[in-house]
Amino acid sequence: MATIRRVAIVTGGSRGIGRAIALRLGADGHRVVVNYRAEATAATEVVDAIAAAGGEARAVKADVAVAGDVAQMVEATLTAWGRVDILVNNAGIARDGLVLRMDDEAWNQVIAADLTGVFLCVRACIKPMVRQRWGRIVTVGSVAGLTGNPGQTNYAAAKAGVVGLTASVAKEVASRGITANVVAPGLIATDLTRTLDERARQRIETQIPMGRMGTPEEVADLVSFLVSERAGYITAEVVRVDGGLAAGA
Ligand code: NDP
Repeated sequence: MATIRRVAIVTGGSRGIGRAIALRLGADGHRVVVNYRAEATAATEVVDAIAAAGGEARAVKADVAVAGDVAQMVEATLTAWGRVDILVNNAGIARDGLVLRMDDEAWNQVIAADLTGVFLCVRACIKPMVRQRWGRIVTVGSVAGLTGNPGQTNYAAAKAGVVGLTASVAKEVASRGITANVVAPGLIATDLTRTLDERARQRIETQIPMGRMGTPEEVADLVSFLVSERAGYITAEVVRVDGGLAAGA
């Protein structure tokens, strides 16, 4: 029997962790939709890199916080390749600030992108997955959602939210061959963390038992396994990739 060529959607696949995941899934032989919100050039560069390595990918613009955009992204995927097997909810933003000074906009934007966006993508992809009797959903959470973090009430609330969302979805669709898991990175070197001032970065690094930030590729390796055939009995799980930062959480 010929192996099925899996089709993966990686949200926020144009930069950082999502870029590394898209490249890895492409190298694993999956067809990849590289989703982005604004930076078309970065997404095209990822698509070209996947193609240069012998894979197949296409860039699709969609804001994950907008239901119509998400519906169009899934429709475009089905039109191009006829199935959706893997959803990696990676797109996310941070708008940090102490709760006392956090304005409604900072709260709403982060909840919209990091929590509502996950819901909208899961809802849109679950139908084809149920029809196929196979699916893999991996959501990129954060250790902040497990431990909390000063200055990140919005972000930590969204990232804690995806844990409950994932456990519920996992239970709803387990009998259909669909798994849903969360990977929770610690501090990973990307544009998101580049804005940290040097002192804050050093302070956090001293708290990491491994003494260094992680790389996007180290997160991608875990995602690659969780979306594979081999991970079929792992669901509703949260796996930290944090060098021990949140050990025990
Ligand atoms: P980056 O800022 O480097 O990249 C974010 C990506 O998400 C970009 O491709 C961006 O696309 C996309 N994106 C943002 N908002 C939306 C949206 N509304 N719709 C579609 N795409 C969107 O972030 P990271 O790679 O660092 O983070 C990726 C994920 O990992 C996030 O969920 C983040 O919370 C999580 N994470 C990161 C950690 C870290 O230390 N870096 C630690 C723990 C978790 P565009 O450029 O087009 O806007």
